[in-house]
Amino acid sequence: MKDSYDVLVVGGGPGGAVAAKTAAEAGLSVLLVEKRPAIGVPVRCAEGIGKEGLAEFIEADPRFISAEIDNAVLIGPDGTQFTLSSSVSGGKVGYTLDRKVFDRELVWRAAEAGAEIQVHARAAAPILEEGKVAGAVIEQHGKTYLVRAKVVIAADGVESKFAKWAGINTTVPLSEIETCAQYIVNNIDIDEKANQFYFSFEDAPGGYIWVFPKGKRCANIGIGIQGTKSGEGHRARDYLDRFIEKNYPEGTITELVVGGVSVCRPLAETAADGLLVVGDAARLSDPITGGGIYNAMFTGRLAAETAVTAIRNGDTSKKSLMAYDKAWRESYMGKALVRNYAVKEVFLRMNDEKLNSIIHSMQNLEMEEINVKNLVLAIFKENPWLVKELPTFLKSLA
Ligand SMILES: Cc1cc2nc3c(=O)[nH]c(=O)nc-3n(C[C@H](O)[C@H](O)[C@H](O)COP(=O)(O)OP(=O)(O)OC[C@H]3O[C@@H](n4cnc5c(N)ncnc54)[C@H](O)[C@@H]3O)c2cc1C
Repeated sequence: MKDSYDVLVVGGGPGGAVAAKTAAEAGLSVLLVEKRPAIGVPVRCAEGIGKEGLAEFIEADPRFISAEIDNAVLIGPDGTQFTLSSSVSGGKVGYTLDRKVFDRELVWRAAEAGAEIQVHARAAAPILEEGKVAGAVIEQHGKTYLVRAKVVIAADGVESKFAKWAGINTTVPLSEIETCAQYIVNNIDIDEKANQFYFSFEDAPGGYIWVFPKGKRCANIGIGIQGTKSGEGHRARDYLDRFIEKNYPEGTITELVVGGVSVCRPLAETAADGLLVVGDAARLSDPITGGGIYNAMFTGRLAAETAVTAIRNGDTSKKSLMAYDKAWRESYMGKALVRNYAVKEVFLRMNDEKLNSIIHSMQNLEMEEINVKNLVLAIFKENPWLVKELPTFLKSLA
């Protein structure tokens, strides 16, 4: 580890890896530090990603694709199903990744591009000079290093501390955190091409249960529930155990992970003097699905591109780096986050009866192309009572 770099990336998830690769490819000196001893584990993720989103960053490779998914099946509280097939979503749908391999592949590519990677290396505090982030204190194997950088990219995930240490308010209320539990379940009968989403406020309050195939007779099965709904006897894992007992009693559980996803609005500002914040650290996971792999890679790349320009221009002030903040907010991804936050606020006001009504009405939908926007518009059309929820929707959009 040297004592100075152009860019220091904190965190070796998808956001950090893509940021490090992009900055290194542009010829900058880059250090990526990851506090865990190994990249990619434990996997706190259902591992779903859209085909188009993935293709923007890396070609699909069987080494990190566990399953190719053709259908998404939405299941209501009374068991009614609605299938979104690849034929109506422009042949898109997606993959279940193997993130243990995927995250490593992304970091290897950053290393190939010239970035230095250090694992078991924790950013313990920022170096602050007159309020400007100028690097970080790195702890590794019992030693402490002072690493200076022209720009630090905080890609330290949902539990991010770096941005907070640097003065950005990163607080997320408990009501806007989904607490999650997930199992890898083997030896079960599943449709290997279909992702299933179970919606029921009784079985998954304020969230949903997913069954994402991971190949032959194996799936990533998990649940997210609203943080405020969790308690003794009704934690995410309790709900998940009841679901598994009812639906897959024959399954063998080979992995358990618990974690959290923020479903709040993004941080009010994702740049400061000498600092850019990306991915989950910037609260950029989707408020409806909790998905954030694509958003992390998208903002990781954008942050690195902004850092390259700022360093070349010799201006790494907040004013200069806010170009990144503006760019992601104006992107399709940024606009989708705003819209989906408003949809989530309406979703949280429902009950199982209303959820059933929506899934029933979806049986009658006729759409040439299905995407989130089309789907939401069609659901409103079929469920006029939803108009009463428009003030909540519009208030949340504001
Ligand atoms: C249960 C669950 C299911 C999910 N399912 C999906 C899904 O199906 N699809 C999807 O798109 N998204 C899903 N997500 C969200 C997805 O996992 C995240 O959005 C994505 O990993 C964000 O990438 P990131 O690079 O921002 O952060 P992360 O992947 O969290 O990476 C952050 C890294 O920073 C490291 N780090 C933290 N602090 C420090 C420090 N001080 N110093 C050094 N390193 C540090 C961490 O160890 C970690 O490796 C799910 C999340 C959960 C919890």
